[in-house]
Amino acid sequence: MEKVVLASISGEIVLKSDRTRPRFERRLVNNIIDAFRREDVECNRVWIEAARLYVSNCKDEESVEKAVKVLSRVFGIHGVAVAHLVEYSDLNDLAERVKEIAGEWVRDKRFAVRARRSGVEPFTSLDAARVIGAALYPLSQGVDLENPEVEVFVEIRGNKAYIHRGMSRGPDGLPIGVEGRAIVLFSGGLDSPAAAWMAAKRGIEVDLVHYVLASPLSIIDALRVGRKLARFWLYGYRPKLYVFDFRPVTAAIAGMVENSYAQIVLRLAMYVVAEKFALAEGYDAIYTGESVGQVSSQTLKNLYALTRARPLNVPLIRPLAGFDKEEIVSLTRRIGVYEEAAKTREYCQLARGLVATRADPDKLLREYEKIEGIVELASTRYIEIPLA
Ligand code: ATP
Ligand code: MG
Repeated sequence: MEKVVLASISGEIVLKSDRTRPRFERRLVNNIIDAFRREDVECNRVWIEAARLYVSNCKDEESVEKAVKVLSRVFGIHGVAVAHLVEYSDLNDLAERVKEIAGEWVRDKRFAVRARRSGVEPFTSLDAARVIGAALYPLSQGVDLENPEVEVFVEIRGNKAYIHRGMSRGPDGLPIGVEGRAIVLFSGGLDSPAAAWMAAKRGIEVDLVHYVLASPLSIIDALRVGRKLARFWLYGYRPKLYVFDFRPVTAAIAGMVENSYAQIVLRLAMYVVAEKFALAEGYDAIYTGESVGQVSSQTLKNLYALTRARPLNVPLIRPLAGFDKEEIVSLTRRIGVYEEAAKTREYCQLARGLVATRADPDKLLREYEKIEGIVELASTRYIEIPLA
């Protein structure tokens, strides 16, 4: 008997056409192999068969447990479990093998057997559930199909069967790499890693762009959070952080731009530099952590003014548009970056006073044009730091 990992893949992948699905599945397997390599998981076989993903040839039980943990952070995985792999000769033999493994699980509990077969076996799933259920019954408190305390899953594939207690939840989504590349404007606060995660979940290779607005110490925060995110979630490629020095831009804004427009002009400057960089480096979109109405610079009127003042030639995607702060916080907790992101300080002290909440597009453009040359200059130099 061997312990292996059994996972289900996102319904979205399963439903793809015969032309697309193999490409998505290949990418998923490659990303998992990359994840195992980066996380030192010593399991040597990963494959997909009939919408199930298998990991076997693991060095020891610890590697199996570790593989389950890592798989629960790979986009494209719906559920994952440690499974006991057995071979059997006939249905009675199978019931015996299941009893050896699952006897302890059902002891003094109300249980249910959930059997699935591949189709080549000379019995039905219902037969299997009945015979296995009868074998476990004497150990248990009885069968309860509606509301069991324990479920015993038996996935039968020819003369082999995978036995487990149910799958823990994966992130779903699409395998990173099937959907192009994007940059994420990344301050390192709570919103930007959540936005990056949302992008990656849709199969996008994300790289991060950080603007140093005041102290260069902000790079350390962005790096700390970016590395955590990359280590936990960004598999299948080598994610990077690009750092632009925006101090000349913030200085120019502070000196030349009308106070109530300072935040919005800064925002526009960030977009423009990101647009130029995306076009030059072959990124298909820009993501930000903006949420409609969260702060005065992000009112819908201001987002409107930003587009009217200076339309962008690259899609600007705001995956958190409809989230409130609590939802964003609970997402960052779930994805394991909350502790790191909450430590990030606010560095930019621009415009402490009143911020325009209904910026006028023409005026915004006029204010922006005052500093355009400096933004242009800031866009020409950056440094690149690998995150993984
Ligand atoms: P966050 O929690 O991500 O810092 P926030 O709630 O502080 O966001 P803002 O500071 O208004 O909100 O920023 C909104 C978005 O603008 C961020 O989510 C990020 O995408 C982008 N952004 C803000 N500051 C920077 C920066 N210094 N470098 C790169 N992107 C930034
Ligand atoms: Mg911020």
